[in-house]
Parts: sequence; C-alpha cells; structure tokens
Amino acid sequence: MSEEKFYFQSEAAELLKMMIGSVYSNKDIFLRELISNASDALDKRRIECLKDSELAENANPEIKIETDSDKKTLSVSDNGIGMTRDEIIKYLGTIAKSGTKEFLKAAKDSNAQQELIGQFGVGFYSVFMVAEKVEVVTRKLGGSETFKFTSDGDGAFTVEDTAQRSECGTTVTLFMRQSTEEGAKDYLNEWTIKDIISKYSDFISWPINFQGKVINSQKAIWQRPDSEIKDEEYNEFYKHLTHDYRDPLAHIKINAEGSTNFKGLLFIPSEAPFDMFMNPESGGISLYINRVFIMNDCKDLIPQYMRFIRGVVDSEDLPLNISRGTQRKIFGELRKMLENDREKYVKFWLAFGRIFKEGIIQDHENAKNILALSIFRTTNNDEWTTLAEYESRMKDGQKGIYCLAGRDNLSALKASPKLDPFTSKGYEVLLMTDPVDEVILNQASFILPEDSKDLLNIAHDDVTPYSDDEKKENDEKIKSLDAEFESVRKLALEIFPDKLEGVKPSLTLTSSPACLRDSRSGMSLQMEYLMRSAGQAVPPQKRVLELNANHQAVKKLAALAETDSEKAKEILRVLYDQSLILEGVMPDDPAQFVKMVDDFMTLALSAQKDG
Ligand code: ADP
Repeated sequence: MSEEKFYFQSEAAELLKMMIGSVYSNKDIFLRELISNASDALDKRRIECLKDSELAENANPEIKIETDSDKKTLSVSDNGIGMTRDEIIKYLGTIAKSGTKEFLKAAKDSNAQQELIGQFGVGFYSVFMVAEKVEVVTRKLGGSETFKFTSDGDGAFTVEDTAQRSECGTTVTLFMRQSTEEGAKDYLNEWTIKDIISKYSDFISWPINFQGKVINSQKAIWQRPDSEIKDEEYNEFYKHLTHDYRDPLAHIKINAEGSTNFKGLLFIPSEAPFDMFMNPESGGISLYINRVFIMNDCKDLIPQYMRFIRGVVDSEDLPLNISRGTQRKIFGELRKMLENDREKYVKFWLAFGRIFKEGIIQDHENAKNILALSIFRTTNNDEWTTLAEYESRMKDGQKGIYCLAGRDNLSALKASPKLDPFTSKGYEVLLMTDPVDEVILNQASFILPEDSKDLLNIAHDDVTPYSDDEKKENDEKIKSLDAEFESVRKLALEIFPDKLEGVKPSLTLTSSPACLRDSRSGMSLQMEYLMRSAGQAVPPQKRVLELNANHQAVKKLAALAETDSEKAKEILRVLYDQSLILEGVMPDDPAQFVKMVDDFMTLALSAQKDG
C-alpha cells in the first residue's frame, strides 16, 4: 500500500485553519454539508447509469450514518458516484468554488469572522470544526481501486490505496474532537444527530439511514402544501440548494396545471452572490422530472435577465412552456413585494435591479412589465420611485418625466449642471445610473405603457423646464448675447470641428462654467461611451457646448476670444474636457488635460507670489 503526502492549496489551507480555530456556535452544519455531498453523489451516480447502460443500476441507494462511541467516530457513507485518486486530490485538496477568495478576504476583514465561517457554504472543510482527523474512503463508479484520504487539517493530507470497498461510493469518517468549549454538543449523541437531520436534511430525496431506520421523510419540499411548511424549512432548503449562507429574500411556490403541469419552488436571494457579476453562468434553476433530479442550472427554464433566481422546477413532462409560467409568477411576486414591502423590494433592487432591467432589451413582450417594476432614484430625496409614482407627483402642466442618465455614480449625477434649471424651478428629475437606462431613454416610446407620460431626457438641448412664454423670453435674452459670444463660438467650432455642432451661451447653468448637451439627431454621450466601452466603433458625434453666460471666467473668455485667440483656445480646451469629466467621461487626452491644468496652476501661484 503506497501512501503519498500532499499539501493543501494555500487558500484551502487558510480556510482549514479558520475551521480548526472556529468558535462558531452553529457547528451542526458540518453534518448538513456531508449529507448534501452524499446526496449529490447519489444523484450523479443515477445520471451516469442513465447515460451508460453498461453500468449497473444502484439497487439500494442510501446515505448511512454510523457512530462509534468507543472510537469517538461519526461516519457518513453513500453508495454514490465515488471519487478517483485524482478527484480526491482535486476536490478535497483545493477550493474550486469561485467566490471563496472574496469570502476569505471578507472574513479576514470582518469582526464577525466566526459568524461568516459558520454560515458560509464551506462544504467538506466544515468537518474540521468538530473533528481532529478525517478519513475519506472512496471508490469510483466503474473503478476497481479504493483510496483513502486522511488529514488532520493542518496543511497536509495523505492518499493511499486501501482495502477494497464492496461497492462504489464514499465514507467520510470523523474522529471527533474532545471539546472543552462550554455548551459544546455531543455529535455522537443519537438525539443530536436526529435533531440536526430533521432540521437541515429532511427533504433530501435519498433515504438517510441511522440505526437501521430511515429518518428523513424524503418529501420533496415543493410537493408539499404550503401551509405545512415553515419558513425555516424553506430557508434551509434554499441553503442546501445554493450554498448561500444567508436567508433568501422571498420564495415563490409554483403550481401550474393545464397544458403543461409543473411545480416549482423558486427563491430570490437576498444579496448577489460574490460571483454574480463576474460569472453570470453560476446558479440557476435545477430541473427535476417527476421528482427525479435531471440537471442543475437549466437555462431554458428562465430568461437571462432573471438569472439571479434560484430554485427547482419539477415537471411531469419536458419543459417546453415552463419558462413563460415561471416568469409570470416571478413578475407577480415582485409586484406584490413592490406594493407591500418597499424595504424588501429596495433590497432586491439593489442586489439584482441591474440584471432584471436587462429584460427591457431582451424581452420585448415583457418590457412594459419590467419597466413598471423598475424603481429609480430622483432629485427629490433619497427614496426610490416607480415611474407611476413620479407621475402622481408631477406638477400641473409638466410635459413629461424628466430624466438624466449617467454612469454608476449617483453623487456625480446629482452634481450635474444639467439639473440646475430643473431643480431651481422645483421639478423632480429621475436619476438613472445603470447602463441599460440609456437604452430605456432611447426606446421609451416603444416600451412605455400607452397612458404613461413621456420620458424626457434633459441631456438633450431641446428639453427645457420652461413654458412657451418663458422659453421665448429666454431665447430673446440669449439672442442678445450672440454678438458677445460670436468670437468664442467660432474658435470653439474651429478647435472641435468633429465634436461640436454648436456653442450657446446659457443663462440657466448656475455654478459650472460649461456643459455638453446631446443633440436630438446624434447619439447621446452616455450611449456613445457605453458602445465604446463595449468595444464598438462609434463615429464622432457632435454636441452642443453651453457656456454659462453668468460665469466670471466665461465672460472673460468671451472677451479674450476677441483679443488673444490662442490663449482663448487653450481655455476652451480645458472647458471642454471639464464638461466631459462632469459626465463621468475621461477626456480624450488626459495627459494633455492635466498639463493644461498644471500650467494654469503655475500661473495662478506665481501671480500670488508676485502679488
Ligand atoms: P461542494 O459540495 O460545494 O462542491 P465540498 O467542499 O463539499 O464542496 O466538496 C468538494 C467536492 O468534493 C464536491 O464537489 C465533490 O465533487 C467531491 N465530494 C465531496 N463529497 C463527496 C462524496 N460523498 N462523494 C463524491 N464526491 C464527493
């Protein structure tokens, strides 16, 4: 028998160290994790047997729990798929799960480290919270050799050939630690074990055998009447399914009867998992057919923009029309939450709103539904609002819903000079910070409900908060400034022939000297930026540069343009770049911008010294 020693991958070793030092009070979960792994192994064996008729069917699939009070051991056995030698090293010696790195970082930084550890789905390694040594004896389905993994969790493990198991599968044996902690549970105690299993693993669909009896009901939770099931059970099932340590935000029971029959139990997680935005493929919905597990993450069951939903769908036949039915249920649940529990809805929205809103582009049929379920920030206060709620607050005579889109950064958007004329007249403006918002603004006429007010993008130079009379008056005033701004206008158009189609004095900007406005005919600045960052070529777009006619610097610039065009051009370049920065867009040549600002600084400082 050859024994070989290996070292755990460094991340795994770090996690193990945390496990061993853990004082987390809920150590019970180690058993849930082992049973969950055993159950997965049985699922996998069944699927393999379906695929390959050479393989014998599992005559007596089960998970078996045994204890030995003399040796102080607890073991969990399954006759599932088992592992090869390479798989042992790969699966038990490293952490493959994405997000673990982030978890480790969070746990390290956090005072609640122990809380995090105990609850995070750390899987197999959680055994080291309670065991001083662990042995895993396993034989792969279809393989002929049996291997034994042994570790006391301190950085290394060994793998050796061992005496044959009679059947494929895995036995994990824990040599329990003598705990000195106060209130520590005795995990060899019959009632402790039964209690944990009924709490965490009752729904496991394979029999769990303990002391010669099956101790779990094996009832699929989605098949049982809602009234029978406590929230806690739903939560535990969710954790089993997703390895998330947090409770879900909501669960959705589906019971569809008609042309397609299916049942389902879906969950809205409370927060986005670590890897949601990096790896949109993770998670999803598991498909069962007649209570038998078929596959994880069945993409046909749910539209892409609902990919944050987790759960199971159990169908009597193949899942052709399921997606539509599930979708409808999810919309219903979200609508209920939006109307009845705003706090919860905001939580949902913060975690998944961005993804959900993608549906407006992906799913034309439901775009209106999704828009009605969308909530936005506004200039009003820090609350969130739906479009309908905004409309109910609109002022008499207001032409439509004023909107401003920018990227990501709400506080930068709030400081946009474009808001000045609107907020100073007491109008509320929706602040849109997600990439898809720009698309909503562009396609509003197709996706708004018929009776809805228009979305008016205040980045457009022809959207103003003025009545016709006010507009006329304002236009006249601006016209009177035309002569004063003629030279500066010419110069600006000379420097930026591809980027500007006009230069206008403005009387409505308050603090900032200039701002860029989108012209009706071209693509908005935000859209242009979005497309460029997605790697698409966009032809140069022309915009209107508004100059604040009340601003001291701008007044001086207008005068300077008459006398020193070179100096005036320099200042115009800085103004232009500043306007881009206010939009959250990098100047084309940041180094040049910094140099120009440097020159101005030097000038200002030397003026001070002299003075
Ligand atoms: P997870 O189950 O979340 O993937 P674990 O740390 O619990 O993480 O397990 C790591 C891997 O080890 C599993 O994905 C599986 O491939 C393998 N494994 C664990 N327990 C068993 C078992 N009883 N039978 C077969 N493979 C197992």
